[in-house]
Amino acid sequence: MTAPMSSQGANQGRTQVGIIGAGPAGLMLAHLLQRAGIDCVLLESRSRFHVENRLRAAVLEHDLATLLRQVGLGERMDRVGIPQEGIRLHAAPDHAWRIDLAAHTGRTAMLWGQYELVRDLIAARLDAGAPLLFNVDAVRLDDLDTHRPRINYRHDGEVFTLDCDFIAGCDGFNGICRAALPSERLAMHQHAWPFSWFGILTEADPAWPELVYGGHPDGFALASMRPPGLTRFFFQCDPDEDVHSWSTDRIWQTLHRRLDAGGTSLGEGHIIQRSIIPLRSAVTETMQHGRLYLLGDAAHLLPPTGAKGLNVAVHDAVHFATAVRAWYAQADFGPMARFSEERIEAIWNAQRFCASMTRLLHRMPGEDSFGYRLRLAEIAYLAENRFAARSFAESYVGSANEEMLEAYLRP
Ligand SMILES: Cc1cc2nc3c(=O)[nH]c(=O)nc-3n(C[C@H](O)[C@H](O)[C@H](O)COP(=O)(O)OP(=O)(O)OC[C@H]3O[C@@H](n4cnc5c(N)ncnc54)[C@H](O)[C@@H]3O)c2cc1C
Repeated sequence: MTAPMSSQGANQGRTQVGIIGAGPAGLMLAHLLQRAGIDCVLLESRSRFHVENRLRAAVLEHDLATLLRQVGLGERMDRVGIPQEGIRLHAAPDHAWRIDLAAHTGRTAMLWGQYELVRDLIAARLDAGAPLLFNVDAVRLDDLDTHRPRINYRHDGEVFTLDCDFIAGCDGFNGICRAALPSERLAMHQHAWPFSWFGILTEADPAWPELVYGGHPDGFALASMRPPGLTRFFFQCDPDEDVHSWSTDRIWQTLHRRLDAGGTSLGEGHIIQRSIIPLRSAVTETMQHGRLYLLGDAAHLLPPTGAKGLNVAVHDAVHFATAVRAWYAQADFGPMARFSEERIEAIWNAQRFCASMTRLLHRMPGEDSFGYRLRLAEIAYLAENRFAARSFAESYVGSANEEMLEAYLRP
């Protein structure tokens, strides 16, 4: 795919919405705008191979799985993804519970790897012949507070400029877009958790048919499936841990101790990949300046314990696409003007859920036996009290958001 150009001059292009970053937020936004007949150009700094193989989130809320079906992205998900009717909570070999998501809410979550969603979105965009450029660098934004904001970038050794009506900054937490907001407009609330996750991908069949969250006295662990026949495990480790300092034996011992329960032992397999993931929370208020809007991780980070990062990023894209449509279809700028204000409550609500799960299931530095017994009592209450379990289940599968879906799908 060559860089988009127009008659304005060599290497000078024009589009309605310039999108920076081909993660879930940018790709979903491009897909939704394309379906609405709104022109956009998507610029990504990494290679297609890199973004299609990046292991990250996997849990989709009920409504987002429904949306994917309605926008032509559900076929592979329904064939290969794994609906989650419940999740398990293991606190020690003799403390194990199941929360029945379906019974409490009438809804399920869908286990569908972020890289699978990204692959489907990239394929849909390229099949449609729509502009998506990989390996773009030196991206710079100009004239954000005018009606013609501009993206400057380099591709294949040449320098280009792209005039836009709007720019969507979907470039993740370490991208350039958030830094383009004037510092006096940017309020960042952030928190670094005092632990990280050690993650492995293994060729092991999952021992349990559902996600297992471990809140062991030693610390957190998680077993999650990646079809076909792969399991992704995580366990809490120190933030300054070196991925190479853990032997394979030590990894499996840690996982067995924190996850085995009720006479079932997790399956071991060849470890394909290891990584360490720091846990951070952040919210950027405001998410917009002039004609630049921040979506997804560019605006906020959630600790992965609550499985909301991917969901919130896609919700941002749906909300923004609806606002852009209102502008082009009815010249109504209201939804664009209110974008940040309208998203912020949902973002803090997702932060609330992720932080409460993180506190509940991780061992804080210096935790004593009283602290652990208190956490254990909280885990038991959550699993056994039907009101607590229902509230948890609703947050986990996503509260019913038919309004959002209807607003987007309305012709
Ligand atoms: C290592 C890791 C593990 C995670 N694991 C989980 C998990 O287990 N569960 C969970 O719920 N969530 C997890 N998350 C969070 C979840 O994956 C993110 O919330 C989600 O990826 C957000 O999507 P996004 O599109 O906003 O950002 P991203 O997916 O980060 O996409 C941003 C894109 O922008 C591109 N980019 C950056 N700078 C530029 C530039 N200057 N120009 C052009 N392109 C640029 C990047 O290459 C990237 O492709 C994880 C995140 C990370 C980083």
